[in-house]
Amino acid sequence: MKFNTKVIHSGVHPDPSTGAIMTPIFQTSTYVQDGPGNHKGFEYARTQNPTRQVLEENLAALENGYGGICFGSGLAAMDAIIKLLKSGDEVLATNDLYGGSYRLLVRIFKQFGIESRFIPMQDTTFVASQINENTKLIWIETPTNPLLNIIDISAICQLAKQKNILVCVDNTFASPYLQTPLDLGADLVLHSATKYLGGHSDVVHGAVISKNKENYEALKFIQNASGAIPGPMDCFLVLRGIKTLHLRVQRSCDNARQIANYLLKHPKISRVLYPGFENHPGHLVAKQQMNDFGAMISFDLKDGQFETARNILSKTKLFACAESLGGVESLIGHPASMTHASIPKEDRLANGLTDSLIRLSIGVEDVNDLIEDLDQAI
Ligand SMILES: *Cc1c(COP(=O)(O)O)cnc(C)c1O
Repeated sequence: MKFNTKVIHSGVHPDPSTGAIMTPIFQTSTYVQDGPGNHKGFEYARTQNPTRQVLEENLAALENGYGGICFGSGLAAMDAIIKLLKSGDEVLATNDLYGGSYRLLVRIFKQFGIESRFIPMQDTTFVASQINENTKLIWIETPTNPLLNIIDISAICQLAKQKNILVCVDNTFASPYLQTPLDLGADLVLHSATKYLGGHSDVVHGAVISKNKENYEALKFIQNASGAIPGPMDCFLVLRGIKTLHLRVQRSCDNARQIANYLLKHPKISRVLYPGFENHPGHLVAKQQMNDFGAMISFDLKDGQFETARNILSKTKLFACAESLGGVESLIGHPASMTHASIPKEDRLANGLTDSLIRLSIGVEDVNDLIEDLDQAI
């Protein structure tokens, strides 16, 4: 089955008791057994839920994995993955990382003896030089947030395989429509389904998809033991969102291409970060591992001022000033005072995350309206 068919049909079947074409929301905590242990595969809803199961099968198909596991949020999914490690193990992660992922590693898991180091991963040779005997997991985000660096997934996976290191790719920014890391050698894929998979800014949800049975079962055990499950209504919303994933992401990518070109010519803008530009350092890798260049764009102002950037955010009318991304509506953010405000200023600047950097999540509105809105604001 091709991707555009899988989003609608994989894992989905009419409800056997009524024929309902849409997966029902099984809002139940337990299941009646014919006698002790004599049940239909469902015992207690922390362990199994039919709405969740359909979504998990759908996600496994989209990412070409063995199995998917859904969680209450993207970070709950990450929490379960890090619990595959033990005290003394080390995580090597992308430096330009989602802030919440950084906080989970540094503020929570460090206390339990799991160390993390954050390094640029655009140069695979450098990544190789940073691996030591304790490195047990490489955590990749690509494209990165908010600098839109591109990391070569298959090169890093080849390196990791030689040393028996697990690789997890946070595929939130690309979505499986643009990139399937398991096909490039990754062991695990993480999603904040809050973003493109849900796609309508109405649900917080996460998922892990495993390439093999062994990690899938280990994670399933961790989830059942720790309990970070999503509710059935949330699973229903994500399942519903995925049915139009291919349409939404493609339109967002098309809009983003036009907006990036508009920004590039703007006299007040000093640089536009968008992997679709031929002179973007990750362009060739992006072309190889992605089907299009995504719908996230960051840009910087010539005057470089914190306040000028913040003013633009308060002037846009269609672009809503908000954290998050990946919904049908376009969003605008100021990383230095919003998503990345907790990073010390020196570290932030050293990584190229300047005071006047603005991040856009391009939605599916009419592109001319979006450009007009940016034009009047900038
Ligand atoms: C939002 C996000 C997360 C965290 O997901 P939640 O659903 O908010 O817990 C992780 N990674 C990336 C890249 C994100 O954008």
